[in-house]
Amino acid sequence: MDRLNMTRRQLLATASIGAMSTLSQGVPTYGDNTKKAGKLAILGGDPVRKNKSWPDWPYRDQKVIDSLMKTVQSGNWCRIDTPSGTVTAFEKEYAALMGAKFCVATGSGTQALHTCVEAMGIGPGDEVITSPYTDPGTIASILSARALPVLADLDTASYQLDPDDVEKKINENTRAIMPVHMMGQPCHMERFMQIAKNHTLRIIEDACQAHLAEYQGKKLGTIGDVGCFSFQTSKTLACGEGGGIIGNDEVLMDQCYTVHNHGTSRRGRTEVIGPKYRMNELEAAVLLGQLSGVQERFARRNRNAARLTARLKDIPCLVPQKLYEGTTAGSFYLYAMSYKKEHCNGVDRNVFLKALSAEGVALSPYIKQGLHKEPWIDNIIKTKVYTKMFSDSRLRLFKDQCQCPGCDQVCHEMAMIWASGPLLGTESDMDDIADAIEKVYDNRDQLLSL
Ligand SMILES: *Cc1c(COP(=O)(O)O)cnc(C)c1O
Repeated sequence: MDRLNMTRRQLLATASIGAMSTLSQGVPTYGDNTKKAGKLAILGGDPVRKNKSWPDWPYRDQKVIDSLMKTVQSGNWCRIDTPSGTVTAFEKEYAALMGAKFCVATGSGTQALHTCVEAMGIGPGDEVITSPYTDPGTIASILSARALPVLADLDTASYQLDPDDVEKKINENTRAIMPVHMMGQPCHMERFMQIAKNHTLRIIEDACQAHLAEYQGKKLGTIGDVGCFSFQTSKTLACGEGGGIIGNDEVLMDQCYTVHNHGTSRRGRTEVIGPKYRMNELEAAVLLGQLSGVQERFARRNRNAARLTARLKDIPCLVPQKLYEGTTAGSFYLYAMSYKKEHCNGVDRNVFLKALSAEGVALSPYIKQGLHKEPWIDNIIKTKVYTKMFSDSRLRLFKDQCQCPGCDQVCHEMAMIWASGPLLGTESDMDDIADAIEKVYDNRDQLLSL
């Protein structure tokens, strides 16, 4: 289960490769076309970007430090120490920011998702349909409830769960759909809401990457029954490890509180099965200290992404993520593109990315393979709770249906820039990215010798 953690380290490396490759000579110039011509850095030429670092991440300023110190000194480190602590304050502010009535903060995005699954009474014998192209936490939340995560394939242009394939995988045991808003951009929520209505299913939005994104004018996470967010270090709002559930259904959100509080309700009675997933006051203090600037940083990432998209429109081998109609505001956790080798003289993606990295701009392939290719599938179908709750033929079909050619294609073509920190850069940082890509593309013939 360490696959995405690895990826996160690579994400951080992505930022630092950019910084490292800048350790050599010279004062950089901008918007200068001559530097794009000539020898690629991978072959000994002069790199496009040098002596420059990307914006530091996680974001922190004096306000964050003050907020944390105040909580440290208060001695109230746990939410039950005080009714007016930072966790309660954060829940209120985050709900308001997201246009939701309620929020329950948790220790991680995975915990938020698992809390929702339990609060909906989904358990052994039940099925939840989700994406293979996601953080392992998505399916861990379903497996932790001993329900069956059924994987549907992707729309290869948007990298999102394909509503048509989801519909094909619904059966009498299906209880919920968990659409994952990958890269911070919306899934086709109109279709998912319609499917849920037709089949009486719940919708748990995995919006762990999608803080502040909007679909048809509504914030992601407020369209389905509940929406879950992650505040893990790499995410666009971060406190190390943290998570949150938002929703408008008071009864369901109250149940989420109970579940996440070891089954103990706000009324103080221990009522149901529940893990202990409370956010602590120090984490909430770190989050509260940065909330006032979150919208400004979100807007900056969006401006920078738009600049990149405009600059890259004539590079045929890099196709930016498709956004669905109804995307009123994207959020950029990753700026993601599909690398089309056929539009780059057949140069392999990894060779193209290596050449780019040598220019001082590192793009990453992100998730190497989908969750449909990980060993959990073979393991759970031999596990007692699954063999007791599902028929042999169901488990065989489940395994047979773990074929996701669309996801395989996305994994094979992905080339992305981590957005949380790097997309907070200046316009000239964005121009470096575009200049480096243009240079490698324009000189692609040189790569054929590699
Ligand atoms: C990060 C992430 C999660 C899990 O969140 P954690 O806080 O790391 O537990 C789940 N789903 C997606 C899409 C994520 O990006």
